[in-house]
Amino acid sequence: MNIRKVIIIGSGPAGYTAAIYVARALLNPLLIAGYKPGGQLMLTTLVENFPGFPDGILGPELMMNMRAQAEKFGTEIIDKDVTKVDFSQRPFKIWVEDELYEAWSVIIATGAKPRFLNVKGEQEFLGRGVSTCAPCDAPFFKDLDVIVVGGGDSAMEEALTLTKYAKSVTVVHRRDQLRASKILQERAFKNPKIKFLWSTVVEEIVGDKKVTGVYLRDLKTNKVYFYKCDGVFIAIGYEPNTEIFKGQLEMDEKGYIKVYDNTRTSVEGVFVAGEAADYKYRQAITAAGDGCKAALDAIKYIEDLIAKGIIKD
Ligand code: NAP
Repeated sequence: MNIRKVIIIGSGPAGYTAAIYVARALLNPLLIAGYKPGGQLMLTTLVENFPGFPDGILGPELMMNMRAQAEKFGTEIIDKDVTKVDFSQRPFKIWVEDELYEAWSVIIATGAKPRFLNVKGEQEFLGRGVSTCAPCDAPFFKDLDVIVVGGGDSAMEEALTLTKYAKSVTVVHRRDQLRASKILQERAFKNPKIKFLWSTVVEEIVGDKKVTGVYLRDLKTNKVYFYKCDGVFIAIGYEPNTEIFKGQLEMDEKGYIKVYDNTRTSVEGVFVAGEAADYKYRQAITAAGDGCKAALDAIKYIEDLIAKGIIKD
């Protein structure tokens, strides 16, 4: 079996950037990209804060460019999901269904996914009124009434984005205080299209072919009532895609991989980049920066193994 020097798992900005660096170090990386390659930017429209694109660039285009750049330098890419890993022995073992891949070093760049409310109707109406991405879906709600669930920065950004299209935007938040940064709070409070329902939770999402409304519970009075709306944007945070690493790597209570000394994980030779470990910054550019750092750490690690005679050049 061909044992790889470096395998990268994940294909957002972190994964592709890591691949560009590892490939340019002539280590022929294998990148296991997942069945839906490209990560969260594939679900966005215009990205205006990635340096180098003064007029912005479409999220999917940015990701296709990164992928092409990784491939240009010799990255091999498999568009399938990793199903199991074993980091308890060396070389590390990575399964894609029944297929086994082995590597001396692994870079994890599996990112995160939006959290859901787990209420009735949510999955049923996903894509038919329920969304987790205002930049992607806001234009479908022109002159309609929408709600945004959550009280953090994401919720405020979603609400503000939606005001460009929707007739009204109602933020439904479970407490009577926002978690969002002051600047975003202020913008939201000032926007005449946005109103707030405090101490309120969504109990159920209802509709016919599309969403027609929600049942809300006022937590102060415990009253449940119907609230008419055409769209429900869920912005209650994210969870890392780290399920397959449970029991293999140390994680925090939310499932984010613990980092030691830059990009090192609890297992020597396994590195992490992007939102699988970073719940704070969560930006394409910070993920890409992490990918670069993880690649440089992995390259150094491989060079050390070669210098010690553990593996061949
Ligand atoms: P977040 O800060 O964790 O906020 C999640 C919000 O959803 C909170 O208000 C939380 O309520 C609420 N929530 C969580 N679970 C819920 C549930 N089951 N039902 C109802 N409400 C629920 O997540 P985020 O807004 O996605 O932000 C994550 C990180 O990214 C933050 O560090 C944020 O600053 C950053 N971010 C920054 C920007 C920016 O700077 N432009 C944009 C987006 C995100 P509680 O408040 O009651 O906990």
